Amino acid sequence: MHLLCHASKPGNRAVGAITGTIMAQNGIGCARGWCSTWVEGPVFNSYASTMVDHVLIVGAGQAATHAAETLRRKGHTGRITLLGDEPDLPYQRPPLSKKYLAGDLERDRLLLRHRPYYEEHRIDVRLDTRVAQIDRANCTVQTADGASFPYEVLVLATGSRPRRLQLPGADLAGVHYLRDLSDTERLRAEIRPGAHAVVIGGGYIGLETAATLRHLGVEVTVLEMASRTMNRVVAETVSRFYEAEHARHGVNIELDARITALAGDAQGHVRAVVGTDGREWRADLVVVGIGVLPNDELAQAAGLSCDNGIVVDEFCRTSDAAIYAIGDCSNHPSLHYGRRVRLESVDNAVEQANTTVANILGTPTRHDRVPWFWSDQYHHKLLIVGLSQDHDRQVLRGRPTDAAFSVCYLRDGELIAIDTVNQARDQMAARKLIAARMRPDPVKLADASLALKDCV
Ligand SMILES: Cc1cc2nc3c(=O)[nH]c(=O)nc-3n(C[C@H](O)[C@H](O)[C@H](O)COP(=O)(O)OP(=O)(O)OC[C@H]3O[C@@H](n4cnc5c(N)ncnc54)[C@H](O)[C@@H]3O)c2cc1C
Repeated sequence: MHLLCHASKPGNRAVGAITGTIMAQNGIGCARGWCSTWVEGPVFNSYASTMVDHVLIVGAGQAATHAAETLRRKGHTGRITLLGDEPDLPYQRPPLSKKYLAGDLERDRLLLRHRPYYEEHRIDVRLDTRVAQIDRANCTVQTADGASFPYEVLVLATGSRPRRLQLPGADLAGVHYLRDLSDTERLRAEIRPGAHAVVIGGGYIGLETAATLRHLGVEVTVLEMASRTMNRVVAETVSRFYEAEHARHGVNIELDARITALAGDAQGHVRAVVGTDGREWRADLVVVGIGVLPNDELAQAAGLSCDNGIVVDEFCRTSDAAIYAIGDCSNHPSLHYGRRVRLESVDNAVEQANTTVANILGTPTRHDRVPWFWSDQYHHKLLIVGLSQDHDRQVLRGRPTDAAFSVCYLRDGELIAIDTVNQARDQMAARKLIAARMRPDPVKLADASLALKDCV
């Protein structure tokens, strides 16, 4: 049992003033001693000392596993249960489009932890266990096979799923999505040198997959509907650098591409992707990477506030004070940027898990982070820090022709984000400068011979 002593009460501005912005309901909440009467507007939750024994985590991916590990590491002695619907022990997803797809990483090395770790740390991991319902009144969850698990604190870490292609032929054999280990293994089984692949979507997943397929000798075409790749997340200079690199490796990237159907052969296997202008791209296999959707249906059905993900407050708490939501499935307020975001990255999964554990263990902690993300394509490392939307100025550091450069984003003179290509040094410094809301000198910024930290 672990003694929880939540200190939030009227007068405690550190917590009380920021807990009440979420709409919620009255009288539901499980951790003993919590007063979970929530209304719209400032609310001061009062927590008595609370003994929490059982933390139940739904999902067994990156966020869930980190939450469980951190709970133990930080001294939670009560029960921890992870319910995951996949057949494998929790694993890392990033290699699924990179080294694991390429065959350069053994399956075992994907695992976040091996079986003995969970046993030694008394983390009860139930695989192949899909949670079908949350009964908030009785603080239990029901699984698809009819089992019931009680909780005192519930953490939803259900992740996201690929957006499906809605076109004729989208269900033909040979059409792939990449989310789970089994998706990558199915794709790998179809890869043959000289085969023709069409990747639909020029975002990270699509481009990483294209690079890996090319490395394996596949003839690859990427179809991107926008006028540049990764257009939502990187500067145009970065898009153009990667488009040139893909072209140099023999990948055919088609921008402004509009498709209307996938055509199949007599056996029901894909054979081409068809454009709106009637053009056909030969496809022995197709990989679709057109974004993801949050797995928030379970929360919606339980009456939790959801809007492009499960809505949480600064403490990662949902509209039910006994339930947290973390990782890809959660929509949280970014204190740094002053708006709500739903992020899909390992960093976000890990850091939201850290915040949640601190709150469960009685240290009221606001989630206040500058996010970062990485992507590996060929031998290039793209690192992005911060959120660049709303910038009013870009400054280029270094030259794309040297394959080592950064794009800094400023808003009213403040550094708000950076894209770095093969410039890890800039990325580390930028994390500090952005968090501290520094206003670097744009002229110095443009001088790549100066260290980023010396530009302020
Ligand atoms: C191919 C690929 C490459 C990526 N590359 C990068 C990268 O380079 N850098 C980076 O930062 N991020 C990358 N990501 C994103 C990163 O992996 C995710 O952001 C991260 O895994 C999110 O963690 P999560 O715990 O929120 O979700 P997940 O890791 O997806 O875990 C959620 C788990 O919950 C399970 N689940 C869902 N509903 C239920 C239910 N009702 N009952 C039980 N279980 C349920 C799911 O099946 C899943 O196992 C990549 C993702 C993919 C797919």
